[in-house]
Amino acid sequence: MSKTKTSYEYSIEICSTCDGKGFTTKNVLTDYHRREYDTEFHKCVGCDGSGRLECKITTEKWPHVPREVAT
Ligand SMILES: [Zn+2]
Repeated sequence: MSKTKTSYEYSIEICSTCDGKGFTTKNVLTDYHRREYDTEFHKCVGCDGSGRLECKITTEKWPHVPREVAT
C-alpha cells in the first residue's frame, strides 16, 4: 500500500485573462477614413465567461525517509 497521502483544496480565483469580467474586448477598425472603431466583446476563453476559475490544489504527503537509510 502506498504511504502517500493526497489531499485536495479547492478555491476560486479571479480570471487573469479578463480580470473577472468574463469577456475580453477588441477594438475593430470599422471606418478607415474616419478612424472609427467598434468594440467587440468576446466571451473569455480562459474562464468560459464566468470571470472565475476553480482551482484544485493537490497536496501529496509521504514519509520523509533519508535516502541513505532507505537503500
Ligand atoms: Zn476570463
